[in-house]
Amino acid sequence: MKPSVKTSRRDFIRKGSLVAGSLALSPTLLSAACKSPDNTKKLGIALVGLGGYAGGQLAPALQKTKNCYLAGIVTGTPSKAEEWSKKYNIPQKNIYNYQTFDDIAKNPDIDIVYVVLPVSMHKEYTIRAAQAGKHVICEKPMALNAADCREMINACKKANKLLSIGYRLHFEPHNMEVMRLGQKQVFGKVTKVDTGNGFVYGGDPNAWRLKKALAGGGGLMDMGIYAIQGARYTLGQEPIAVKATQEKTNHELFKEVDETVYWELKFPGGQKVTGKSSYNNNWGFLRAEAEKGTFELEPAYGYDGIDGKINGKPMQQPNIIQQAAQMDDFATCVAMNKQSRVPGEEGEKDMKVIDAIYRSLDSGKWENIG
Ligand code: NAD
Repeated sequence: MKPSVKTSRRDFIRKGSLVAGSLALSPTLLSAACKSPDNTKKLGIALVGLGGYAGGQLAPALQKTKNCYLAGIVTGTPSKAEEWSKKYNIPQKNIYNYQTFDDIAKNPDIDIVYVVLPVSMHKEYTIRAAQAGKHVICEKPMALNAADCREMINACKKANKLLSIGYRLHFEPHNMEVMRLGQKQVFGKVTKVDTGNGFVYGGDPNAWRLKKALAGGGGLMDMGIYAIQGARYTLGQEPIAVKATQEKTNHELFKEVDETVYWELKFPGGQKVTGKSSYNNNWGFLRAEAEKGTFELEPAYGYDGIDGKINGKPMQQPNIIQQAAQMDDFATCVAMNKQSRVPGEEGEKDMKVIDAIYRSLDSGKWENIG
């Protein structure tokens, strides 16, 4: 059923109703998280793109981090530079615009560049940051397609810099519990996963999120990526094929991008895995059935207010500041020169699934992934 209330994306996520999470499942995920280093120096992070997520979530989280701090900003808007400089005590020498960005190479205060721009700009700024000698966190979805993800991974490898994707839910206790229950087969093999993520788009009809060239797609790229991750990290396996369908009710608003998409994923274990994404439905759940039990999250993917059940009983995990945990972990990884639990390869895996979903929408057939 479609909710009638329109919400801004930010409000929606803030409320923790449903929304986006992120994750990846990576085989390393339960084992190779970086441990806290014996290192008292906080690493400096520069945020690139001071929009809703940078201002609403990342900058406040960086006031709570232990291993890193907000050292610099990159913005094309002088008034934002002034406002942020005052609010967060950022010195003039650590403020860049898109023309001066590459000078960041000479700035020892900046260890990590965090790319929080429209999707079409992720590749360019990730590569330029690595070439400037900085480690990089890039927001989800990592790029417009999997081929671009590969270029970003290779560029960071060539520059000998670590790359991580803003998959905050890999640090979120309820989602981590789902990874444990599924991957460790606590209730036997998982036989079924159903998950969805979306919100009713009530924002600017001219925003970059609705432009194919800038966003790469609609609800699938922005929200569906969490549901794809949810399935991957519940099972701890990679899907091999997908079949998708879509629904469009507002052809004017969503003339360039997808509104609602449904998919079925084929996994090597033969599990029944379904997912859906939307810019016109408030969804945010993950339900898993295993041989000897069930577990679920709802809301599953928001910034806070995440809740879950195991065999119908409360999951009892804390809600934390996910972004602070995510950035602290990456700072620790940089200090220890260790790969993040959510490296560029995780972003690439999701984009391979998304690329295949778009191919399936075109062909109407099952499409192989990867
Ligand atoms: P936003 O529109 O609020 O901010 C985008 C920023 O990019 C703005 O400051 C804008 O001025 C700047 N920008 C620079 N060049 C631009 C151009 N050519 N066109 C448009 N904007 C331009 O978007 P947002 O919600 O902050 O999202 C930014 C990124 O963060 C996206 O990749 C998004 O998917 C991701 N995000 C992740 C989460 C999460 O939970 N991990 C949540 C929200 C957004």
